[in-house]
Amino acid sequence: MEIGFIGLGNMGGPMSRRLVEAGHQVTVFDARKDAMETLTKLGATAARSVADVADRVETVMTSLPSLDIGFQVAAGENGLIRGNRIKRYVDLSTTGSRAAIKTAEVMKQRGIIQIDCPVSGGVAGAEKGTLAVMASGPKEEVEHVRSALEVFGKVFYCGDQPGMAQSMKLANNFLSATGMAASSEAIAMGVKAGLDPNLMCDVINAGSGMNTATTQKFPRAVLPGTFDYGFGMALMVKDVRLFLSEAESFGIPIEVAQAVGRLWEKALAEHGPESDFTELAKTVEKGANVQMRSKKK
Ligand code: NAD
Repeated sequence: MEIGFIGLGNMGGPMSRRLVEAGHQVTVFDARKDAMETLTKLGATAARSVADVADRVETVMTSLPSLDIGFQVAAGENGLIRGNRIKRYVDLSTTGSRAAIKTAEVMKQRGIIQIDCPVSGGVAGAEKGTLAVMASGPKEEVEHVRSALEVFGKVFYCGDQPGMAQSMKLANNFLSATGMAASSEAIAMGVKAGLDPNLMCDVINAGSGMNTATTQKFPRAVLPGTFDYGFGMALMVKDVRLFLSEAESFGIPIEVAQAVGRLWEKALAEHGPESDFTELAKTVEKGANVQMRSKKK
């Protein structure tokens, strides 16, 4: 099918590549020229602007880094709402449900159907097509784009109301953020006690403490000291903040989330928005005065 894709970053780059490779006709736009060139070399068509994408195709996907940028691209002065052909807007970004509901309302007034479609599984999942793809919106519209979404991974229909898939995604990412925070503290404690952090991950992964920090984030980015997992600190903190504000709005207890949130805010202050989110481990290392590095090699 004909698909527009805006935001060719860590996630959007490999996802749009997979669409091209699956035989879809993809029209791309990004604020970075180099990101567009990578895709046009593979067979995608370059658009001149966001609105130009919406003039050319009925289905437009976006994968953008912040709520503000997402809203501007969708509903801003030169946004998708200016386009003549666009019928459905599939947002693959993580925005939280309130932003999704707000944007869906504006899009609806312009006759554009919004499908919320946040994804989980990181850059590796985007490259391999093994993401968890969470979709909410009118069922028939999700079915219409299902074959394209399946190129990204396993599709889960989360409900017909705007924002439902976003709430699902925030619950997932809060657990991911918590796993990273708690694993950093657990492994720092063990290293302080004289244990090898590699051994600790091996044991935890064979036991009941296993989570994506100990199976993937530590072995790939913390233990080797590369801190290059491919998910920005600002993005992780955005998701934790969104979880906190969404949970607060429901009035549910969030004692764990508040503690986790404080640690992520500290890591953001120490390492900056552009750092990789795995640098949170360095914040814990600093406090514990240990280094959680591989002793191998
Ligand atoms: P990124 O910063 O790597 O990519 C964003 C892209 O958007 C960049 O190429 C940037 O140039 C482009 N962009 C910014 N403003 C633009 C504009 N006005 N018009 C056109 N293009 C513009 O971000 P990412 O890591 O790919 O994340 C994108 C979304 O996916 C975020 O909502 C994030 O929370 C979510 N997400 C990320 C991961 C991950 O592991 N990186 C995993 C799951 C979900």
